[in-house]
Amino acid sequence: MQRNELKTITDQFKPSERMPVLFLGHGSPMNAITENEFVAQFRKLGNEIPKPQAILCVSAHWETKGTHVTAMETPRTIHDFGGFPPALFAVQYPTPGSPELAVETQQLITSTTVELDQTWGLDHGAWSVVKHLYPKADVPMVELSLDKDLSPTQHYALAKELGALRDKGVLIIGSGNLVHNLRLVDWKRINDAFGFNWALEAQEIMNNAILSGDHQAMMNYAKLGSAVQLAIPTPEHFLPLLYTLALQQPGEQARLFNDTPVGGAATMTSVKIAMD
Ligand code: ZN
Repeated sequence: MQRNELKTITDQFKPSERMPVLFLGHGSPMNAITENEFVAQFRKLGNEIPKPQAILCVSAHWETKGTHVTAMETPRTIHDFGGFPPALFAVQYPTPGSPELAVETQQLITSTTVELDQTWGLDHGAWSVVKHLYPKADVPMVELSLDKDLSPTQHYALAKELGALRDKGVLIIGSGNLVHNLRLVDWKRINDAFGFNWALEAQEIMNNAILSGDHQAMMNYAKLGSAVQLAIPTPEHFLPLLYTLALQQPGEQARLFNDTPVGGAATMTSVKIAMD
């Protein structure tokens, strides 16, 4: 992207056209090439919301030491999984990068030093869902990594620093899963829409906190009881939600979609935050 295009990002959008913020439950990488109710909702969403100038995605699948942002012109499609059919490895999502957005992100975040990355690209947490929103691969995208050393509260505070991007036509997307315990998934029923009792309980607790705007409870998820602890055995699929919630402004509503359990121990619950 050229310097004059950055000017477009900066100047074109007015505050009244603030972009929504999303959390997308990505589930199995196979959702990238499978037609189902979840990807139909992603497609619908892509048609409903204003076309963004660029996307900033926080994916569960990019954990680093320190915070990094992809800054290459042409991010590669990373197939960061194993044991799937060749058709999935053949998927390319050749959407452009945005070195300009990477630099702007680096400048916006002052609580930590953000490194410009030239080696990562788009992992499946990003491309497997965004390809359904923007199948033409015509929206420039960067990824922001998850710093492994930050606490949930620190992630939330860092995310707040990104708020100005929403007014510049940037769509911020967290990609993960709220209930995500692969060790407890019933792999024989991975495509069945059911949840174990603890998973349904965790889903209800987290949904209530999201819908009531209780972000403190979500930052302190470790204290939400044994069901939530089972739902979040490791934090990386949960933390992208904190980036989404942190960007909620007064008067904005959080709405859930794809709020369905799968395979017993995961949920596809996704969140859209916007004024209406
Ligand atoms: Zn994942």
